[in-house]
Amino acid sequence: MGLLALGTALDWPDAKTKAGQVRAWGIKQLLEIWNKAKGKERDAMLWGDEVEYLVVTYSKDDPKVLLSLRQADILAALASDKKLSTAGCNPVLPDGSQPLANDPPPVFHPEFGRFMLETTPGKPWGIEFKELLNVEPNMKLRRCIAKDHMLPNEFPITLTTFPRLGSPGVFTEPSYPVSGPKLRSQFVPDEIANPHIRFPTLAANIRSRRGRKVQVNVPVFRDENTPWPWKDPTVNYDLHQWPEDDDVRNGAAPDNFIHMDAMAFGMGSCCLQITFQAKNLNEGRQMYDQLSPLGPILLALTAATPIYKGFLADTDVRWNQISKAVDDRTPEELGEKPLKTSRWRIPKSRYASNSTYISEDSRLRPEYLDPNLVIDPEIKQQLLDGGMDDRLATHFAHLFIRDPIVIFNEDLEVLDLSKTDHFENIQSTNWQHMRFKPPPADNSIGWRVEFRPMEIQITDFENAAFSVFMVLITRAILSFDLNFYIPITRVDENMETAHKRDAVLNDKFWFRRNLFPAQRAARGGSGASSPAGSRTNSRPPSPIGPVEDEYRLMSVNEIINGTAYAGGSEGEDEFPGLIPLVESYLDSVNVDVTTRCQLATYLDLIRKRASGELWTAARWIRKVVAEHPEYKKDSVVSEEITKDLVGKVISIGEGGEAAKGVKGLEDLLGWFVR
Ligand code: ADP
Ligand code: MG
Ligand code: MG
Ligand code: MG
Ligand code: MG
Ligand code: MG
Repeated sequence: MGLLALGTALDWPDAKTKAGQVRAWGIKQLLEIWNKAKGKERDAMLWGDEVEYLVVTYSKDDPKVLLSLRQADILAALASDKKLSTAGCNPVLPDGSQPLANDPPPVFHPEFGRFMLETTPGKPWGIEFKELLNVEPNMKLRRCIAKDHMLPNEFPITLTTFPRLGSPGVFTEPSYPVSGPKLRSQFVPDEIANPHIRFPTLAANIRSRRGRKVQVNVPVFRDENTPWPWKDPTVNYDLHQWPEDDDVRNGAAPDNFIHMDAMAFGMGSCCLQITFQAKNLNEGRQMYDQLSPLGPILLALTAATPIYKGFLADTDVRWNQISKAVDDRTPEELGEKPLKTSRWRIPKSRYASNSTYISEDSRLRPEYLDPNLVIDPEIKQQLLDGGMDDRLATHFAHLFIRDPIVIFNEDLEVLDLSKTDHFENIQSTNWQHMRFKPPPADNSIGWRVEFRPMEIQITDFENAAFSVFMVLITRAILSFDLNFYIPITRVDENMETAHKRDAVLNDKFWFRRNLFPAQRAARGGSGASSPAGSRTNSRPPSPIGPVEDEYRLMSVNEIINGTAYAGGSEGEDEFPGLIPLVESYLDSVNVDVTTRCQLATYLDLIRKRASGELWTAARWIRKVVAEHPEYKKDSVVSEEITKDLVGKVISIGEGGEAAKGVKGLEDLLGWFVR
């Protein structure tokens, strides 16, 4: 969540005239913190997760499951509970031992959807391996505390999207008529968004800047009885309330796509994000670059989004839908019209896979960078003049091609260099899959990197497993000085691939062949023995060949488990696999047996998801729908199916006996059901 300052939010025509001022002041604030923080050293390797919930109302007797719009009341109840009592919440360590002290209590945050809730641990996690075991019970505790501050029939669930958000009829509690002045959606009411002025303004100004509503079109899944060509039966072509009602008459809703028209369809999705603190600026830049190519792989592995607006989609993840749901580009920026008033054509939405590498690592070859990167040259010059190096100046000059969307008039009176509000205005509305977070204005914490692509998982066990895996692979990257660089445009391609149904099982992703420059090739052996000794302080110059020779297509199974396990392709180099690398990292450090065993269960989940032995949530949800007696093989996910799906998800989230009763859960979790 960005800042929730109060004030007078400007409508787009006014905000537009102030955009230059916000950018200029944002750059001054950035340089201020840059000069203060660039030499910061020895910050601890802290990290933290963010988990997002949908809040639903559900009861066995009620035929409908609905989104509860009580975010504000729930947050107020949480805020007024000074002790955030754990009454009724007894999370234990995974081995069943001591309960956790809840100190400081977890933090709950608002989110875009009025049916959403975000939570983070009370303080970031530390470097100790033992602390990794606290993540899962802490996530369970957070879920339990959230539930404790809800009505008896309300539940926090970790589905990425509500299956019938925007379907005809009632899908929220309370229910409101659709098509308000802010969103102008024909499917969702304005009341779907957090009422804080920031959020409706964000939605309205994105729409206004674009000159039409956002168009979130997702290919529909074609089942046996799905009429073809398929016309989204929920689209109303006869509305005449807002000028934007013309959008669908002008072709916004093509055949064979589920059509959605509002920011809520994207920003109403839940995800799992991890923020790492680096010891210094350079390490932060290295982490940013090295984690970037992992983004699409983890997106595919966490796939959990097969349903939109009551229909099965032909894609498995949320990413592109959010991208479209906040795409504020003008027709000129989109390349639909010649440039007249917009400054440049922009190839990506402000929510997209990232477009820059930022490290000064000598292994970063110029060929990896995006040759078509759009930057604001004046901003870049200001940053260079302010003492920033070329590569980082390029990164920020790229982020700053965007306009600020929400501007509060009160903030434009005096430039306050003891704040970073104008910088954050642009920075935090560049929703890329990695975010490089400079220290806050008071310089109290270090340079951080956020890993943002993962889909939220149904259970805290899975969310903890993916969080812990990301922490361990990050430490392995730093410890072994691993090199994951591939051309950034290949990362973009991978991001598209990650959307395909069952991409984990069926698709291949561009991935670097050799992660160890010192060894020339990762041949011979599992990789488990090689990296431990491969940390080189002075790297021998690597042989420079064509960039295309440095990477190849690999399955997620090969990438995660290695070719020795997955079975490689004929004639291809062996690849060690990320899990074996993590294992050899763990071998190289002191981890007690209990901790190591528990970490092994987390790694085992990742391993089995990658091999297909266990299913992604997306695949599992599809099966729940397909096997439902109500399902007519026509791609329609009815209210009844939704209710039964959500009922299962609630039981699974609760864990224990409730979860064990859910038929078919072994496909998702195997023996990890607990
Ligand atoms: P945002 O929504 O802007 O990404 P949040 O405050 O919601 O940020 O979440 C940031 C995460 O970073 C939380 O899990 C928090 O515990 C964690 N965190 C806070 N301080 C640090 C730090 N110094 N180093 C690493 N992680 C931190
Ligand atoms: Mg969030
Ligand atoms: Mg957050
Ligand atoms: Mg956020
Ligand atoms: Mg924030
Ligand atoms: Mg975040």
